Amino acid sequence: MGGAAPDRWKAATMAVHLGRPPGVPGAGVNPGVELSSTFHQGGPVAYGRDGNPTWAALEAAVGGLEGGTAVAFSSGLAAIAAVLETLPVPGRVVVAGDAYAGTRRFLADVAQRGRLAWRGADVADTSATLELAESFAGGGPEWGGFGAGGLLWLESPTNPLLAVADIAALAEGAHRLGMDVVVDNTFATPLLQTPLDLGADVVVHSATKFLSGHSDVLMGIAVSRRPEVVDALVDRRSLHGAVPGPLEAWLAVRGVRTLAVRLNQAQANAGELARRLAGHRRVAKVRYPGLPDHPGHHLARRQMRGFGAMMAFEVDGPEAADAVIGRLELATAATSLGGVETLIERRARWPHEEATPPGLVRMSVGIEDVDDLWADLEAGLGILQ
Ligand SMILES: *Cc1c(COP(=O)(O)O)cnc(C)c1O
Repeated sequence: MGGAAPDRWKAATMAVHLGRPPGVPGAGVNPGVELSSTFHQGGPVAYGRDGNPTWAALEAAVGGLEGGTAVAFSSGLAAIAAVLETLPVPGRVVVAGDAYAGTRRFLADVAQRGRLAWRGADVADTSATLELAESFAGGGPEWGGFGAGGLLWLESPTNPLLAVADIAALAEGAHRLGMDVVVDNTFATPLLQTPLDLGADVVVHSATKFLSGHSDVLMGIAVSRRPEVVDALVDRRSLHGAVPGPLEAWLAVRGVRTLAVRLNQAQANAGELARRLAGHRRVAKVRYPGLPDHPGHHLARRQMRGFGAMMAFEVDGPEAADAVIGRLELATAATSLGGVETLIERRARWPHEEATPPGLVRMSVGIEDVDDLWADLEAGLGILQ
């Protein structure tokens, strides 16, 4: 499960090479799909709910990229739930106010049953977030453990507002308050940002998105450097049973192999589309950290190794947004993100998106030819003229 990579390897090399079987003559170059639910006694894994060699390959790759030990789950939300289920009761969580809606729904659901209290914060505002965190910190159960002093849950860039949080400053401030810190790194991927290096205790991913990259598999993963946290996560997986299917884990590993080239192309496309959209007279606002007028641009430049492939733009109201999206022939109107194909949606059509501007269109930019994408968007926006 570990992900020790030679120090000389850069991330793109790790993505291609970690988690392969030992180089024995005649052995497969790739991991196999291990379908067996039980294993001969005496080895490291006894039963398929506790471990699986194909999961281990994915865990080695993503663990190496994030710089910790990874634990694979059946979906991103399963990984998120497992982390939150390790908290003592009642837990106390300060979360990015525009964090992934599923994360906020999970917190609301558990809070309703009295098992935790939570508040949303504007994580682009470091001092306001830490002030809110302070009112939530301390007073945990005496037995301690992960999150006993409270938990700060970050995303950066956030979904769908693309706000940038200062992970290092927030982690340092939260730790001073005795809190632990989780970062959902789905948008950035470990190629652009490694939150454990910035002080986070745990990183979670919806590996459904960029890591797998082809919109054909659900998978989640959590990574930490703290052995007791890793053990607790493995226990949550065994006890709650949110285990990945072996074929899904294999598809996710295969996706990780091409992460660097996919992300490079998608990111280049996103930067170009953001620039062109910003100059379009029907577009009121473009949210992309790579644009110099984005409020988090300088922070993103310092904190990230690229600005990613997620962006959002605003047109004049929900009807206009729906009309533009309805006109597109190349970008696909569908939720989710991080695949090779460009996906687009009016984000506020979902519940729990009250803070999202009604005319905000979120776009997960794919790896198509950028001029084809622009022609499609331009034609779509043309309906507003
Ligand atoms: C999609 C997503 C999740 C949830 O992951 P699933 O694989 O759909 O369960 C969590 N966080 C972010 C940022 C996401 O985009």
